Amino acid sequence: MRKLQQSPERFENYIGGQWVPPATGEYAPNRNPADLDDVVGHYPASGAKDAQAAIQAAKDAFGGWAGTPAPSRGRILAKAVEIFRSRIDELARALCREEGKTLAESRGEVMKGINLFEFYAGEGFRLRGKTVPSEMPKTLTFTLRQPLGVVALITPWNFPFAIPAWKSAPALVAGNTVVLKPASGTPATAMLMAKVLHDAGLPKGVFNLVAGSGGSVGNALVDHPDVKAVSFTGSNATGMALNERCARRGIRVTCEMGGKNPVVVLQDADLDLACTGILQGAFGSTGQRCTATSRVIVQRPVSQQVIDALVDGARRLKVGNGLNAGIDMGPAVDEAQLKTDLRYIEVGQSEGAKLLTGGRQLKGGDYDKGYFIEPTVFTGVEPGMRIHQEEIFGPVIAIIEVDTLDEAVDAANAVEFGLASSIYTRDANAAMSFIERSEVGMVHVNNPTVGGEAQLPFGGWKSTGIGEREMSEEGAEFFTQLKTVFFDYTGQARQSKIY
Ligand code: NAP
Repeated sequence: MRKLQQSPERFENYIGGQWVPPATGEYAPNRNPADLDDVVGHYPASGAKDAQAAIQAAKDAFGGWAGTPAPSRGRILAKAVEIFRSRIDELARALCREEGKTLAESRGEVMKGINLFEFYAGEGFRLRGKTVPSEMPKTLTFTLRQPLGVVALITPWNFPFAIPAWKSAPALVAGNTVVLKPASGTPATAMLMAKVLHDAGLPKGVFNLVAGSGGSVGNALVDHPDVKAVSFTGSNATGMALNERCARRGIRVTCEMGGKNPVVVLQDADLDLACTGILQGAFGSTGQRCTATSRVIVQRPVSQQVIDALVDGARRLKVGNGLNAGIDMGPAVDEAQLKTDLRYIEVGQSEGAKLLTGGRQLKGGDYDKGYFIEPTVFTGVEPGMRIHQEEIFGPVIAIIEVDTLDEAVDAANAVEFGLASSIYTRDANAAMSFIERSEVGMVHVNNPTVGGEAQLPFGGWKSTGIGEREMSEEGAEFFTQLKTVFFDYTGQARQSKIY
């Protein structure tokens, strides 16, 4: 196994199989949002030159990697899986410190990322084209899936390990070379991922990582003529602008963006199950998940019971530093997100929604070291309100009361986003009707809105998603281009004759 050393305090970009200092010479400290005294490390504040160097390294490596048989590419990912498994604790701890989610949640995210590498290691044996009969005699017609070239992956802070994993693994197994730009606030676990890929024997230049801001590194990647595709996950504002820029260059792009995910609770539901699921979906990861439950649409006969249980559940959650035992919910990721959460709580009140619990920044003692906020529940929410329409990305539930399933479906669909939804009911007909009419990419029944599995397509409808689904076979398809082959073995000139 090749050894690669990084200083524990100062990290470098990973370019061409080496740790390379940023051309800017600048570094930014990355602090634990639960304890600002805890400096995770100093990470490159790279610029366009660093992005260009990484693209060049990826370009140089492309021919060799694309020419490596896909099963062999998959075997390197399988080796990485083995190494990841031996470093789960290190990865989970780094993730907890850089993003703030609890250690248990961090471990879950690391496991998910490893599953993705495992799934795509196997895809090296598949990457299927198709063979179909030709109209012509003695002619073989089939399709091939071939890699695109250098691809840029741009990822958000809320899943700093799983999202780089779910983009990198399919891109690599499909034969592309990669430049990853992690969110500037959370580069630590992505750096550890680069190290594992290196240790697994990935040839130099096949995977590169450049840490830095979207405005410098991100822009340089998106606009570079040698970048053949961009896979982005993040906010709608950034994604929509990036999509336009990629369209102007005529390159392939996928953007997975925001969510405003509803849970519908019908009067026949198992209410304990529903409320447990809602609390997990809404307050897990401090509500900082694209699939977080942010709206609860409940039928009036059971609404008071549901409201009481959610308020009680929210008040029982223990908020604190996720590294400590017994903590249910960590902090907001940074000051800006904390301010956004608090601003939306003010907006909700000014719109006439009723704040039943939470709504304040937590202060005093260890809370003063980080960005902590109370789990928050609003009732009296109407579909036109901003707290019903806009993604807050914090621990805030908006409860809407309705009389019928039709009203519930209308409220659920009355937003621009279309990522995930859920219904709690024992009525199979109602569940199926909801599945058919819900305008989202992923529907859950008797299950929280959150979650995804490596072997299932992940992504949203409406303004949540542009382009291919991620994960599963579809995730790899984005990173390949199809070639249709007509192989004539008659040895004779002939005229095509189609009836
Ligand atoms: P963001 O601000 O849009 O940033 C996402 C990434 O884009 C970051 O790496 C960012 O760099 C980079 N970026 C910013 N400006 C750029 C530019 N001009 N060109 C290229 N790259 C640029 O989003 P975020 O706040 O990190 O993430 C939260 C959002 O992600 C939420 O809306 C959430 O719903 C969404 N999300 C969606 C999914 C999904 O699958 N649908 C999954 C997870 C999260 P910097 O870090 O330097 O700003």
